[in-house]
Amino acid sequence: MNKIQEVKERADIVRVAEYFGIHKKQCCPFHKEKTPSFSISQSKQIFKCFGCGEGGDCITLVSKILNINAYESAKQINNILCLGINFGQQTSNYELNKYKQVQQAKEQFEIWHNRTLQILCNYLHNLNKIEKLQEGNIIEYYIDLLIFGTEEDWLWFKKTEERWCKKVEQELRRKIA
Ligand SMILES: [Zn+2]
Repeated sequence: MNKIQEVKERADIVRVAEYFGIHKKQCCPFHKEKTPSFSISQSKQIFKCFGCGEGGDCITLVSKILNINAYESAKQINNILCLGINFGQQTSNYELNKYKQVQQAKEQFEIWHNRTLQILCNYLHNLNKIEKLQEGNIIEYYIDLLIFGTEEDWLWFKKTEERWCKKVEQELRRKIA
């Protein structure tokens, strides 16, 4: 497995943050503020600041704190938490590229997710105008799935209903100018 990925999967972001004196809810370490908008989700293993928009996993967190790349960051976390992962052989460039590919795919997926949710909500609110009231239940079901579902649900939805979503979008554009 990719070393960066391995560190990410085995490290607990809360423990990593604690090492740097950062708590689960506090003022953001990456921008100046008076009321806390920075928080860490242990269940999702991510951090997010609603003030400046910074966010990511434990690798990103340490990269930002120490101003180092993802590979160096993984190495640091490996040492801090004594994960005992051997960083000996593979080249850092190979690891970095792999990691970047995964991150990019994730970002793209998130963009798709937000956008689809917006389209479906928009469609739901305009069912009357589009004369598609009979589709209300299914649209509501999909919106629920996109909000409360798991990542597997979303992957399934993207795989099976992406074309249908495109149609919905086109229909919206045609009728609601
Ligand atoms: Zn911030």
